[in-house]
Amino acid sequence: MNILFATSEAAPFVKTGGLGDVCGALPVELARLGHHPTVILPAFRQVHQAGIHLEQTGVSVEVPIGQKMVRGHYLRANLPDSNVPVYFVEHHDYFDRAQPYREDGEDFRDNCERFVFYSRAALEAIPLLGLDVDLVHCHDWQAGLIPAYLHTLYADRPEFDALPSILTIHNLAYQGNFWHWDMALTGLDWKYFNWRQMEFYGNLSFLKTGITFADALTTVSPTYAEEILRPPLSCGLEGALQHRADVLTGIINGVDYDVWNPATDVFLGPELQFDADSFATNKPACKADLQRRMGLPERGDVPLLAAVGRLADQKGFDLIARVMKQWAVQIDAQWVILGTGEPKYHEALGQLAAEHPERIAVRLEFSNELAHRIEAGADMFLMPSQYEPCGLNQLYSLKYGTVPVVRATGGLADTVVNATEPTLADGTATGFSFEDYTSLALAETLERACRAYADPVVWSQLIRTGMQQDWSWTASARAYAKLYQETRERTMLAAAE
Ligand code: ADP
Repeated sequence: MNILFATSEAAPFVKTGGLGDVCGALPVELARLGHHPTVILPAFRQVHQAGIHLEQTGVSVEVPIGQKMVRGHYLRANLPDSNVPVYFVEHHDYFDRAQPYREDGEDFRDNCERFVFYSRAALEAIPLLGLDVDLVHCHDWQAGLIPAYLHTLYADRPEFDALPSILTIHNLAYQGNFWHWDMALTGLDWKYFNWRQMEFYGNLSFLKTGITFADALTTVSPTYAEEILRPPLSCGLEGALQHRADVLTGIINGVDYDVWNPATDVFLGPELQFDADSFATNKPACKADLQRRMGLPERGDVPLLAAVGRLADQKGFDLIARVMKQWAVQIDAQWVILGTGEPKYHEALGQLAAEHPERIAVRLEFSNELAHRIEAGADMFLMPSQYEPCGLNQLYSLKYGTVPVVRATGGLADTVVNATEPTLADGTATGFSFEDYTSLALAETLERACRAYADPVVWSQLIRTGMQQDWSWTASARAYAKLYQETRERTMLAAAE
């Protein structure tokens, strides 16, 4: 099938989170399976700085935004190591900014206008660039208007004849809500500005619009698809989502094992690399290396607990900080934290590290290399998230023999099998999980994990089972391909009726 990916991020061109990873990897995997994806992105400044040559297409586009016509043009490149074409919508005033969506902690005030322009230019690219498209796969609020355009303004144009769309929600908390007068910028009739379609508590909501008009909806894990039907994870959109529950499914994200594989990891190098057969010797070496780099005592007998991620409320760093504070004076364990984010966490974690340098090491920075070394050297990886649409770190941890300790939510619930008597007995256990979002539940689960760590037979079994799992993109890409096909057939049938 020919799929147009309408997304504001695709690695390595532009990435601020998981959205960029998915839209960089999934099209390549679909192409491997014989499909024909094309990606269309805004030409953000990051895209120009990605070090990949962008060709001029010589094709320009004019988009009505409210009362004015706005002109842009298209650039072109390929996703690396693939034949997947990527087109970029170029408009300097809108997209040549330091960050894609915000500045100094505030969203850009013209985000509605910027993404109306992007959405309409993405659709106009189909006839202007002569793209062959069977389905548009839209991602997050930034492309949320596209399903509405296809069902309204563009429905009667033969080039868009019954073109179906799918919307993938990567994180429901980001909705693209704007004051109601911005409705005039969209070119869509005010009759759609009602609580059943585009309005969300008096505002225009791009994500709600997508949820309303897309022919199918997905989230990035099956459990998250269930959780968002009810508060609190529905973020106020439970009504809109329940109304579309029949077309909502979850497909777990895959991992790029070319990058995240301890047997080939370029940051570890040949001396430290390991696989399911050699972890018993090389993983301890990775641990010693990590302890040295982090300034912790070099000890093999003490459990090393790690967390890497955005220091945001979502990720449960308040729970981690509380348990760390208590454990640092009571329990012989080491902690390594890598992250950047909210100042309150920088302060709390930094202070704990200063008070307990022999047990706690914190790096408040973004370091891909250190993230790889932590995955390789730690014994346990903590993700006590409030919510987690998919989560990638727990999947990396499984591959690196670093036993995940997670809260059973979203993708964490779908990918980590809690160690219990039955799951240990049948050999399916891969980690530890808990339900209640409390520091007590996290502490109890960590105690349970530390008891298992003290038993080398149990611990090796957990490591080996995790390392043997396959969370590559292949299975996920197949699930998307099946959904594309079903959605196209269903919409064609509906159009014929
Ligand atoms: P989210 O997309 O919600 O931030 P994920 O677990 O899906 O969470 O993905 C986070 C990705 O970002 C992982 O690849 C993780 O290693 C990486 N990451 C987050 N913070 C840092 C950091 N400070 N240094 C290096 N990598 C980080």
